[in-house]
Amino acid sequence: MSPNTLAISEIFHSIQGEGSFAGWPCTFIRLAGCGHGCAGCDTSYAEDKGFELEIEEIIQRALTFQASFIEITGGEPLRQPPVYPLMTQLCDLNQKVLLETGGFISVEKVDKRVHKIIDIKPPSSGVAQHNNPDNIRLALEAELPQRHNFEFKIVIAGKEDYDWATSLLLEHRLADSFTVMMGVAFEKLDPAKLAEWILHDHLRVRLQLQLHKYLWDPSRRGV
Ligand code: SF4
Repeated sequence: MSPNTLAISEIFHSIQGEGSFAGWPCTFIRLAGCGHGCAGCDTSYAEDKGFELEIEEIIQRALTFQASFIEITGGEPLRQPPVYPLMTQLCDLNQKVLLETGGFISVEKVDKRVHKIIDIKPPSSGVAQHNNPDNIRLALEAELPQRHNFEFKIVIAGKEDYDWATSLLLEHRLADSFTVMMGVAFEKLDPAKLAEWILHDHLRVRLQLQLHKYLWDPSRRGV
């Protein structure tokens, strides 16, 4: 594959379902491939090899949707090196670029203008040992205004995950400085239960529901 080519799973226009931009119309560029094998992954189809596109063509297709935001997601988008110039070129075109990453690869090389949504995988994912500690360090060391371009997301499947996540947040005082979104693993935990825990502990996080799963069939692709 050429250095300007990426393996793409899908490019589509939808409502942002998660994170602090939830509810906004957004264009999604889903890159193919991940390899982390998280339990409960809801985009395992992104493991398929996808189709190849040059950066220029990806940008043209994404811009046709004329959305206010463009999210680069996966799979694991940071596995493909050409994703870095893709993000930079989109920023140079004055696009507001969001990156959603599984949190296993350092975001150090990501253009500082990109808003980074970094997963922190809890024990139920089976891969918590692969969370890259570099990402929390980079966020804590970032200066304003780049500091605002870090956001964390934790998907909770039960009380063990919740207690683990709470300890991590307190240890790094992450929620004091950054938006931390806490959601439930779909159909594994009642969101009302997570809401109760958050309120009981006065945890400074934002409860997120995956909007797209309420708007459309949860198994539908391209939403
Ligand atoms: S990092 Fe994301 S895409 Fe990859 S296996 Fe985990 S949940 Fe699925």
